[in-house]
Amino acid sequence: HAKNQGKRRHSLFSQQMQLEAMERLILEGDLRQALQRGELFLQYQPILQLSPETLSGFEALIRWQHPTLGRISPDKFISIAEETGLIHDIGQWVIAEACHQLSQWQQHAPAHALTMNVNLSALQLTNPHLVETVHEILSATGLSGDQLKLELTESTIVTGSAETEKILQEFRTLGIHICIDDFGVGHSSLSRLHEFPIDTLKIDRAFVNRLSIDRKGLEMIQIIVALAQSSEMTVVAEGIETGDQLRQLQSLGVEYVQGYLFSKPLEAEAACRYVQAQGTKNRQP
Ligand code: C2E
Ligand code: MG
Ligand code: MG
Ligand code: MG
Repeated sequence: HAKNQGKRRHSLFSQQMQLEAMERLILEGDLRQALQRGELFLQYQPILQLSPETLSGFEALIRWQHPTLGRISPDKFISIAEETGLIHDIGQWVIAEACHQLSQWQQHAPAHALTMNVNLSALQLTNPHLVETVHEILSATGLSGDQLKLELTESTIVTGSAETEKILQEFRTLGIHICIDDFGVGHSSLSRLHEFPIDTLKIDRAFVNRLSIDRKGLEMIQIIVALAQSSEMTVVAEGIETGDQLRQLQSLGVEYVQGYLFSKPLEAEAACRYVQAQGTKNRQP
């Protein structure tokens, strides 16, 4: 009977929902301890400047190695960290760890200062001690402000309050750069963008991907590059996987690139070797 089938589907559906709710509850409990237990760690993906191709810096990306469930994606656990408020401790740890690593690698680096991009959740901006904490981390690691770049999403910025603007201004005073991550996918209006001190637009991976499919990606990237140029912002394209995408981005005037074509996110030791290899490369005639 159609009615019975409907019932069965409904109960399967609610069982599925119950399972997901349970999984979430377990993850929530486990995430509380993950930091102390050393289950969280960072990987670092190189960001390159084009023509000539040089290492500009890295983006720090958080990882969770769960003792029984294996690797859990940040797309899954960052939202849990936000809902539980754990994002404040976790986020602070990410900044400290990433800055500490960069200060170590800088000793092996080519002559110019490398940079570290760190993703910030909107919620971290509600912490009244955030700027002070970041300042302390910079002092402790000996990095200069312009070696740190904070990535925020478009909606975090555009829906931000006067307080958001104040915090971003304070970061800028410290020399820290602000990037808009996943730029172009937000549904928010761009009209408030100029109110905030933005240094970089990171083109969302979806548009780079689209370059291989039809003209939509190309058109969108053209608009983003023009917008950036008119406001003296730099553009980073992320998620580049093919040489063809790279050539198209280069011809569109994109200056910074990041993606599997160059390197996947690397463990700290591998990232350090990557820096060392760049240093050697640059010293050769
Ligand atoms: P995101 O900041 O936009 O980071 C880029 C994502 O694209 C990363 O996924 C990276 O591994 C992936 N990626 C890079 N190049 C390629 C490529 O060529 N092809 C493909 N298919 N993917 C590529 P990941 O590491 O899974 O991170 C997902 C998201 O989780 C990040 O997106 C960011 O929004 C969030 N996230 C990661 N680490 C942190 C963190 O420390 N704090 C906060 N608040 N969010 C984080
Ligand atoms: Mg990012
Ligand atoms: Mg992104
Ligand atoms: Mg993202």
